[in-house]
Amino acid sequence: MRADSSVAVIGSGLGGLAAACVSAARGHRVTLYDKNDWLGGKAAVLHEGGFRFDMGPTILTVPRVLERIFAEAGRNLHDYLDLRRLDPQWRCFFDDGSRIDLMQDVEAMAADMDRFVPGAGAGEGYKRFIGISQHLHDVSNRFFFWKPVEDLFDTINIRANMNPGTLRDVLSLRMHASVASTIRGKVKDARLAQMLDHFVQYVGSSPYGAPAVLCAIAHMQTAEGVWYPMGGTRAVAEALAKLAGELGATLKPASEVTGLAIENGAVTGLRTRAGTTPYDAVISNMDSVRTYRELVGGEVGKAYEKKSFEPACSGVVLYLGLNRRYEHLNHHDFVFSRDPEEEFDFIYNKGEPAPDPTAYLAAPSSTDPSVAPEGGEALYVLVHTPYLRPHHDWSAMFPAYRQVILDKLKRTGGMPDLEERIVVERHLTPQDIHERYKVLNGAIYGLASHGRVMGAFKPGNRSRQVRGLYLAGGAAHPGPGMPMVMMSGWIAADAHDSDVRGVARRSA
Ligand SMILES: Cc1cc2nc3c(=O)[nH]c(=O)nc-3n(C[C@H](O)[C@H](O)[C@H](O)COP(=O)(O)OP(=O)(O)OC[C@H]3O[C@@H](n4cnc5c(N)ncnc54)[C@H](O)[C@@H]3O)c2cc1C
Repeated sequence: MRADSSVAVIGSGLGGLAAACVSAARGHRVTLYDKNDWLGGKAAVLHEGGFRFDMGPTILTVPRVLERIFAEAGRNLHDYLDLRRLDPQWRCFFDDGSRIDLMQDVEAMAADMDRFVPGAGAGEGYKRFIGISQHLHDVSNRFFFWKPVEDLFDTINIRANMNPGTLRDVLSLRMHASVASTIRGKVKDARLAQMLDHFVQYVGSSPYGAPAVLCAIAHMQTAEGVWYPMGGTRAVAEALAKLAGELGATLKPASEVTGLAIENGAVTGLRTRAGTTPYDAVISNMDSVRTYRELVGGEVGKAYEKKSFEPACSGVVLYLGLNRRYEHLNHHDFVFSRDPEEEFDFIYNKGEPAPDPTAYLAAPSSTDPSVAPEGGEALYVLVHTPYLRPHHDWSAMFPAYRQVILDKLKRTGGMPDLEERIVVERHLTPQDIHERYKVLNGAIYGLASHGRVMGAFKPGNRSRQVRGLYLAGGAAHPGPGMPMVMMSGWIAADAHDSDVRGVARRSA
């Protein structure tokens, strides 16, 4: 095999774009396909009546991942993106009318928590929680990140690595505990615990079902910050697409891939409506389960279907162009539900929208005035909902649920005149998300991370079933969220590149 093999990337989500950049930087001939007429997948943008909305992700963390992708090509990320640190990171509005800001500095946050709940040791509990989170992040860095992992055996080469240190690391993964129980073991105040639960909402999973190792997300955010790329998170997709183009990748929007050509268990190309095009390898950024079911098919597709992967949650998004700003809002805000147990039980167990939901808000005009006409706000509202069930008809469900969300914002978010202030309104429902991005049951964040032992594992980046097929994106290792999907793109491209170079070396 030649060291400059031809690679097709299916899907231009942030994972697909990252894979295209890394693969092209390593000297491969890359062609990237997306069924949509824009590049970036969920990192899309909406322009309407003078307002600009990021349609999908709005919170950017761990910019180190992006820096590494740009460094692959010898470029400096900061020549492509103007990143601004946001601190406070989130403002939190609780149902009882109280508020607290999540600060990046752990000592400052602990002191604020002690003022919020005097005499309860909340600050000390928070510092101990961040200590656990840091340790779990260190272990994840060693065993889990930047490598193509499918299961426990991939993370730990038992024979080579099994020593007292490794054993200690495995035991310290706290496989007996969930995210929620780990938080509540250290932070007793129900409101503060509810705030900390929401780190795991970045991966669309219940804190009661997600394994404790996902507490590592908290340390990733306190250590590396929350960032806003000027121009919106859409600017991340644009920067990656620009880099891929500069590196010689061919970018094909409005090109749906309908199948893979596979011979003797190995990828030989892909099919579009225009016919079959040969490639040495394929990196699929389409949902992993749908890749196997719809693009691979046959016995492999059927066998994959039987694996018990559960979609992550879905969501309703409102894009509200307002003729005023709300000065009490921060750039990122959470307006919390009255009862997290009730909320998560509805979303993740009952499979119905929560009657009193948590709403995440982005009010970016104070950081980036270009999002709205002067004095206005491009308010983004995201409420998590269950993934699509067969009886969910969102065209019928949406109007009533929209009102539930607006009433919640008026009541708990301190915006009593919100409805009168709307001059532009658009929305996405789980059904829209399902169709726009070709995901599993409308899932926003790929596959749920539920299960104490296997919850953190996703389909591996190097297919065990089909040679020459690699997976990247929210439904592949290491999982969803902007930094993780871009890392998954790097891993998929790196796995392909090492396979090619290994084969080239062996046949030289
Ligand atoms: C409303 C919302 C809010 C979010 N908020 C945040 C946040 O604040 N912070 C954060 O870190 N993450 C957030 N996320 C999650 C984050 O956006 C995703 O994890 C990430 O962007 C997904 O990237 P991906 O690489 O998996 O690809 P996707 O964005 O899912 O893109 C996949 C692409 O593949 C294309 N495709 C699929 N099948 C085919 C085919 N057969 N042929 C051609 N093309 C195909 C699709 O058209 C799509 O463009 C949010 C997501 C949503 C929807």
